[in-house]
Amino acid sequence: FSKKEQQMREAHAFAVEFYHHILMNTEDGEQALNYLLERGFTRDQIETHQIGWAMPNWDTLSILLDRKGFDLEDMAESGLIIHKENDNSYFDRFRGRIMFPIRDENGKTIAFSGRILNTNGDDAKYLNSPETPIFHKSQVLYNLDKARASIRKTRQVILMEGFIDVLAANRAGVYNAVATMGTSLTSQHITKLKRLVQQVTVCYDGDNAGFEAAKRAAQMLHEEQLKVEVSVLPDKLDPDEFIRANGAEVFKNQIIDKPHAYIAFMMMHAKRGKNFQFENDTLQYIQEVLETLKGDTSPTERDLYIRQIAADTNISPEAINAQLRKLTADTV
Ligand code: ATP
Ligand code: MN
Ligand code: MN
Ligand code: MN
Repeated sequence: FSKKEQQMREAHAFAVEFYHHILMNTEDGEQALNYLLERGFTRDQIETHQIGWAMPNWDTLSILLDRKGFDLEDMAESGLIIHKENDNSYFDRFRGRIMFPIRDENGKTIAFSGRILNTNGDDAKYLNSPETPIFHKSQVLYNLDKARASIRKTRQVILMEGFIDVLAANRAGVYNAVATMGTSLTSQHITKLKRLVQQVTVCYDGDNAGFEAAKRAAQMLHEEQLKVEVSVLPDKLDPDEFIRANGAEVFKNQIIDKPHAYIAFMMMHAKRGKNFQFENDTLQYIQEVLETLKGDTSPTERDLYIRQIAADTNISPEAINAQLRKLTADTV
């Protein structure tokens, strides 16, 4: 790392300690600490992940960083503070937020995500550090440092939408979960995963946005030759909400251990909102599923899923098979 990057990392380490101290040991942090405990966080986990609280004041951290001798222009570039050009002063980026440190693969904090306590107002629920020389959000997988051992051991990684879901999964005894930082999955994320595993379980939020994002992520992972499975959550719940509603055991036994195979998930996606009483829906469903099947699938997979499509739609397996052959021939 350059000298400047080193400074940015040191400042982040300092900020982690400071925010965490405020949360755990001061009256200023009380409300936030109670919020976390009510959400099911344990003190142990708050310690392990060094979660903190940024007070609502404008310049608490800026003043401390200045006093510690950090170059404030570098600090502004690190995302911790903001340079107010008109009167050449600095103020804190994160104010009145629960601070979740975002660590790199070696466990060093390179950014923060801050959550407001009350989502009724106009403020964004989460505020992340911007792109900086030490934080590239298209590359970071939250919790990869701590999850690595479990990922290797289980030969599996569980990909989630929210880092708060990863923390909930941890409390449920699932240690091989990681999350993107509010961005869609990128090929850089996938490269990191491929160094560790051959199989990925996608476990995104159960709402419509999560279902669609899961489809895109699953397709990308499949195209990158990873074995993909998708755990689908019911009732629009996300992993954290599901665990709180149903408990850790049900989450593990019925969701994590019962994922849909890639093609089965793609069929489920294609089926959503369609009514096979209508010819158009039937034909479109078959077309969509065959697009998936014509890819990298084995003869037995094709046979299995063609039978299922036939059963769903009341079209003969022979006709579906003929259509698949035609599709495959067209693309060669
Ligand atoms: P919570 O349970 O605290 O509401 P969540 O993880 O369920 O959090 P979602 O709305 O499902 O929140 O969002 C998933 C992820 O998307 C978050 O972890 C965060 O990284 C990102 N995100 C959500 N809202 C915002 C926002 N307003 N600005 C930036 N990122 C966001
Ligand atoms: Mn969501
Ligand atoms: Mn969510
Ligand atoms: Mn949630």
